[in-house]
Amino acid sequence: MANSAYEPLVKEFMAKVIAKNPAEVEFHQAVEEVVASLVPYIEENPKYKAAKILERMVEPERIILFRVPWSDDKGEVQVNKGFRIEMNSAIGPYKGGLRFHPTVNLGILKFLAFEQVFKNSLTTLPMGGGKGGSDFDPKGKSDNEVMHFCQSFMTELYRHVGPNTDVPAGDIGVGGREIGYLFGQYKRLQNEFTGVLTGKGREWGGSLIRPEATGYGATYFAEEMLKTRGKDLAGKTVAISGSGNVAQFATEKVTELGGKVVTLSDSGGYIYDPQGIDKEKLNFVMHLKNVKRGRIKEYASKYGVEYFEGKRPWGVQCDVAMPCATQNEINEDEAKILIDNGCYVVSEGANMPSTPEAVDVYMEAKILYGPGKAANAGGVAVSGLEMSQNSLRLSWTREEIDGKLHQIMKDIHETCVKFGKDGDFIDYVKGANIGGFVKVADAMIAQGVV
Ligand code: NDP
Repeated sequence: MANSAYEPLVKEFMAKVIAKNPAEVEFHQAVEEVVASLVPYIEENPKYKAAKILERMVEPERIILFRVPWSDDKGEVQVNKGFRIEMNSAIGPYKGGLRFHPTVNLGILKFLAFEQVFKNSLTTLPMGGGKGGSDFDPKGKSDNEVMHFCQSFMTELYRHVGPNTDVPAGDIGVGGREIGYLFGQYKRLQNEFTGVLTGKGREWGGSLIRPEATGYGATYFAEEMLKTRGKDLAGKTVAISGSGNVAQFATEKVTELGGKVVTLSDSGGYIYDPQGIDKEKLNFVMHLKNVKRGRIKEYASKYGVEYFEGKRPWGVQCDVAMPCATQNEINEDEAKILIDNGCYVVSEGANMPSTPEAVDVYMEAKILYGPGKAANAGGVAVSGLEMSQNSLRLSWTREEIDGKLHQIMKDIHETCVKFGKDGDFIDYVKGANIGGFVKVADAMIAQGVV
């Protein structure tokens, strides 16, 4: 991916990162993608090189690792790992979600925290970058077990976070239920009602549009990309993966804008509904996933459509693909099939869902490719607005927040164009990486060697 003249510099830098952080493959992948676009820019702007900004940015300011013991409904003791990566606080308190999933490890959370620094900077709001979570699997656990786990997790985390220090939010496996239990325990331990978490319930400090924000934002970003070719989402066929928070609200907004969503998935497989997933069918999915906590397979029996066990949805005919499940869920072959089938827009709701080889395929084909750190920044942007409302002790209306979210997504798109335009082609990867980097790097230089 690197501009060939700079490839040796990228390789040299990556060799050091890999040696210092062995086995953290997702972290290496995320860093390499950023470094490949930044090295030419840094060579042209030597102040960043002299201050060793890149070397500092790949080293987290602080990592907290802890034991999370809890007892299950049978009274048996369970032990999980707890993590919080405080990556960069140059432009604001650490900010980023918590992920509860059995695959969680240090390398995955470091990749997510690293991406978060650039993403948060792109939103134009004053937020640093962080990420955290646990290898705890909420699937198949009772509400009582989830509560006991969350209480134990916060019993350690509370001393490291705070509204002006580090403000976690949700991510995979952490939704409204988990944020509620975490917030309750923080308040009890700290004796303080503050905006220490975002994604809170409406009645206790949460913001309107926060649940919708990532999916809506990724859809607004797709619409902005389409506009550069004089098009919009109306009448377009859209393939979406996942069926959690991001996928649900991407489906809602795409449908509202006149597009037709034909797929959804979970870790078991995907459903293909050529008629489109309309409002009524989406309500079924929301109830199935958020209340019943069931499997997407049930959609197929309810609506008589096909279910593809153990498969991902990238073989269907579509104009737009929105991966909204997890990292590395589109590989090189799948990217080629998407393009062969007519897909010319990829807007990433998930973080790093395309492998580096898949990204090379998009670049080669010169499609409209919006990487996660730009396209899915709407979630953290509205988290930033939740923090503002908590500080003001005010609540803005749905229209006000949706308006601000829409404007932020347009501004992020503008930034990507500013730094990524190359003749007729817009390299959104380069645009997002440089656009996110400059503000953080300048702040780091201003604050000295810290
Ligand atoms: P949810 O937990 O609500 O949903 C995740 C969805 O992805 C589920 O359908 C889940 O299926 C599926 N999934 C998770 N892991 C895998 C896997 N290994 N293989 C196949 N499918 C999988 O999470 P979110 O919707 O919040 O997050 C989705 C993505 O969006 C993540 O990459 C996250 O980092 C990113 N993101 C989320 C933001 C937010 O505001 N929530 C903000 C920015 C990015 P199953 O139920 O079977 O596990």
